[in-house]
Amino acid sequence: MSTDTEHVKPRSEISPEDRWNVEALYPTFEEWEKGFQAVCEQPTKPYWPSLANYRGKLKESTSVVREVLNRSCALSRELEKLHTYAHLRHDEEITDDRHKSSYQRIMSLLFDFQQESAWIEPELLMLPSDLVDNYLKSPELADYRFHIEKIVRMRPHTLSADKEELLAMAGKPMQTASKAFSSLNNADIKFGKITDSAGKELELTHGLYQMYLRSPDRTLRENAFKKMQSTFKGFENTLAELISGQVQNHHFNALSRNYPTCLDAALFSKKIPVSVYRSLIETVRGGLGSLHRYIRLRKKILQLPELHLYDMYVPLVPEVDIKMSYSDAEEAIIESVAPLGAEYQKALKKGLKEELWVDRYENKNKRSGAYSSGCYDSFPYILMNFRGILRDTFTLAHEAGHSMHSYLSKANQAYHYSHYPIFVAEVASTFNEELLSQLLLKRFKKKEEKLFLINEKMEDIRATLFRQTMFAEFELKIHELVEAGTPLTPTLLKEIYFQLNVDYFGPDATIDEEIQVEWARIPHFYYNFYVYQYATGVSAALSLVEKVLSGDQTARENYLAFLSGGSSLFPIDLLKLAGVDMTTPEPVQAALRKFDSLLTELETLAD
Ligand SMILES: [Zn+2]
Repeated sequence: MSTDTEHVKPRSEISPEDRWNVEALYPTFEEWEKGFQAVCEQPTKPYWPSLANYRGKLKESTSVVREVLNRSCALSRELEKLHTYAHLRHDEEITDDRHKSSYQRIMSLLFDFQQESAWIEPELLMLPSDLVDNYLKSPELADYRFHIEKIVRMRPHTLSADKEELLAMAGKPMQTASKAFSSLNNADIKFGKITDSAGKELELTHGLYQMYLRSPDRTLRENAFKKMQSTFKGFENTLAELISGQVQNHHFNALSRNYPTCLDAALFSKKIPVSVYRSLIETVRGGLGSLHRYIRLRKKILQLPELHLYDMYVPLVPEVDIKMSYSDAEEAIIESVAPLGAEYQKALKKGLKEELWVDRYENKNKRSGAYSSGCYDSFPYILMNFRGILRDTFTLAHEAGHSMHSYLSKANQAYHYSHYPIFVAEVASTFNEELLSQLLLKRFKKKEEKLFLINEKMEDIRATLFRQTMFAEFELKIHELVEAGTPLTPTLLKEIYFQLNVDYFGPDATIDEEIQVEWARIPHFYYNFYVYQYATGVSAALSLVEKVLSGDQTARENYLAFLSGGSSLFPIDLLKLAGVDMTTPEPVQAALRKFDSLLTELETLAD
């Protein structure tokens, strides 16, 4: 690993073919600066008086609506382009002053744009319904039909203008619970030191916690686990109030906007039926038998008389020495996407090798981690810190999956339908990771290599499907309790959380009492029914891989149509287009089948 800063090169020593080609977006900062000046209609606020001129006039005609949507989309598109360049340059060297100031300037201009165009959606929403019906039928607005439909379907849950204003004013104070949690969790809380089996003192932080849980040193794992939970337990009354406060916010929002439940309120705008959420929980519960079998095998392989919760993340097999250079990784990924057809493969190859989408290696002061990012007028860039361990190849496959989804959506959709919705976002990335995994399983024949690859895949499914569904279940329970008027006391929260762990890990795990307070440290519980999307995403992806690899030509075409669909349909309909119906248990069952078949392979290999 090259975390040793002594050996990390400065940006200037990274050769151009290893950097992303941002010059394709703007050749120089000077060109970007020109674009920045040109996007504003005047040098002071309001920057876009032409937009404001339409205010109050949307009732006049379809042409007015078309003009304002055209204008706001064109501005938004141009601003995104400016933003993309500034944020990519910023992440190359986050300490560079020019990068920092350009990034802050574009962020602030984007904020101004949001403010100056914020009136458009509410004005459309408030138009008389017969007028909107006429607009929706008008050929002049055909390009924007679905866009307008998405806005006006919020009408039954929109209040009169004065009440909306009141709710908007309440928005800020209502963020207190989540902001207080975030401050406690990210800044104020300190875990202090723990010791490993040799008695050596080590610092505990959020980042190091995950690493310690994977350590072969069991004393270190146990001490890290207990210290983490006990620290949060010390604040359990405060944390119960905070989480309760956040759920009360969701309940207040649901009540004031005429939703039957908090879950309905969270899913309505994306048109996700609540049955999708409930069926996910029910189906995963039906498949817990496989997870319990996996836990039993884990206990056996690790040769432990008791398998504790701090033994859940330590790798079952030592990391095998599968090293890949960047170009080997690139080749493997390109080869792995062959089942998606020659055209897909060619576009990805060109993107990686010729258009240079990827910023490959670490350099001094580069942003850590990995992502795929871009805009309508740019390549779908990828930031990486490629070191050559196998995990990096999977990360590149993952981000390339996102990038190809963006690439195809942009190529086939108008700007305002080119961004895919969060509900489907992880499908393409998981899909490509699975293709790579299958290729490598064919390529690597040694027993340890196979064991390692299979176990990695199983751990992915355990973390996204099982663990996130357990979270989703907890989230639903606490909202239902608040809806029924039951106070969320620390005792009640601990009881629910402990029982979920008993149910999910099964009879072969020793459920440590300390786990009961784990809810207190999960930031996602402040997000309003978010985590279930990880579980539905992995289910859709694994189900689709199964279909495409069966060699069915239509399955491949359907999947490509989905990748090309952007946000031109509601998420559930996009996935139907791909070939999975998330309103049925089938996709989740396919993911469970996959986990079970990997487990059977692992059991055979481990024998
Ligand atoms: Zn992703």
